[in-house]
Amino acid sequence: MLRPARCNSGTIGIMLQPSPTLQKIARGQLCAGCGGCAAVAPDSIDMEYSQDGFLRPVQKAGLTEEAEDKVAAICPGLGLAQDPDGRRDHPLWGPMTGLRTGYATDPELRRNGSSGGALSAILAHLLETGTVDHVLQTGAAPDLPFGNRTVTSINAEQVFHAAGSRYAPSAPLDGLERWLAGDARTAFVGKPCDVAALRSLARIDPRVRERFPMMLSFFCAGVPSINGARKVVEKMGGDPDQVVAFRYRGDGWPGFAKATMADGSVRKMSYADSWGGILSGHVQFRCRICPDGTGGFADIVCADAWETDEDGYPLFEEREGLSLIVSRTENGEQIVRDAMAGGAIEAEPFDAEGILAMQPGQKGKRRFTLPRLLALKLAGKPAPRYDGFHLLRNTWDAGLWLTARNFLGTLRRVVLR
Ligand SMILES: Cc1cc2nc3c(=O)[nH]c(=O)nc-3n(C[C@H](O)[C@H](O)[C@H](O)COP(=O)(O)OP(=O)(O)OC[C@H]3O[C@@H](n4cnc5c(N)ncnc54)[C@H](O)[C@@H]3O)c2cc1C
Ligand code: SF4
Ligand code: SF4
Repeated sequence: MLRPARCNSGTIGIMLQPSPTLQKIARGQLCAGCGGCAAVAPDSIDMEYSQDGFLRPVQKAGLTEEAEDKVAAICPGLGLAQDPDGRRDHPLWGPMTGLRTGYATDPELRRNGSSGGALSAILAHLLETGTVDHVLQTGAAPDLPFGNRTVTSINAEQVFHAAGSRYAPSAPLDGLERWLAGDARTAFVGKPCDVAALRSLARIDPRVRERFPMMLSFFCAGVPSINGARKVVEKMGGDPDQVVAFRYRGDGWPGFAKATMADGSVRKMSYADSWGGILSGHVQFRCRICPDGTGGFADIVCADAWETDEDGYPLFEEREGLSLIVSRTENGEQIVRDAMAGGAIEAEPFDAEGILAMQPGQKGKRRFTLPRLLALKLAGKPAPRYDGFHLLRNTWDAGLWLTARNFLGTLRRVVLR
């Protein structure tokens, strides 16, 4: 039922009644940009670029009460609940049914992927064995060189072209109804928050389980604004408006950020300089209070299996790609084993304690979530609710000094904002 709203004139009429849920999310800058709200309320919500270069919901019509409830139930910006369901999840790295390092056995795919191309090799295997009919994933937007679009791949060649991380907004859930209404079986690839929203939707829409039997993700430090890539090109000495194609990385490990200019020239920047020096500074606020950068809701998650120096810092020298491959469900572990047996990936077991050295950023993300949330609450701002992430224990492990620094840093940022 649409709720009538009072117009400025004082007469009662049907005008756009702002969604209280979307208003709360906007007030707290809690949106992760997944597109889930547009998926459950397609007649009322579009995803569009905001002025600061993120994909955000724009309300174009009033929401029914049912749609309002659905948005509140699935939005990862408002909260995440990791139900251990009798498992003993790792306090930092979440549920695990298998842990390996590995790579695509096809050397071209290994090179084209972000790290070892393992994620794409598993996708290609799912298609080639008929386990799924489609893969729903993210690739470069044809009309916006720095931007993304959701693409459907139906063969290994299309998966190859969509390989590689794109450090820019993506909203793969936008337009989901088209897939839910059909009868194809689709593997979904998205950021951890995209997958979390899809899992939540599965609880209220039984079609999700049937249409999306496999959900894959990657470790995620955060989504930078589309303006971040423009800064990278400026730093390369180029004019962002003259860019015709842009790769964030891949084509090697970690690979270079590469801008192809209108005159055919190519400008490059190392991963350490592009991500570390520029893009990471343009990450949206929600990512700074995210406890699930490791994709706890997915069936399979891949990440960079960085080597580290003697001080524990990841080394970014170019080398042959290697992915960390985490199975999180029995279903995911079976697919990884099948992909190994079918020769799509080569992989060997890895010890969970080794992730600590590989992924210092992800360790910090989970350890500092609680002090950051407390700072939001103290400042009277909306804060997401997180269950099942062992936040108290992780905060304890972080120690008093780092906890206090993160609490005060967030408080300062929020007050200044
Ligand atoms: C925003 C972002 C942040 C990341 N942060 C980390 C991190 O902190 N630590 C870490 O180890 N790894 C991080 N990664 C992931 C990492 O770069 C690799 O994707 C991962 O190591 C898997 O490599 P692969 O070669 O197996 O995957 P590939 O075979 O290269 O496959 C990558 C898949 O990711 C999809 N994809 C690419 N960009 C996006 C996007 N913006 N939104 C949704 N899907 C996308 C592609 O469609 C493709 O299916 C991040 C990736 C992104 C996009
Ligand atoms: S996080 Fe996703 S569901 Fe929530 S408001 Fe943003 S786009 Fe919509
Ligand atoms: S850091 Fe968390 S909220 Fe941000 S894009 Fe990644 S998974 Fe989503």
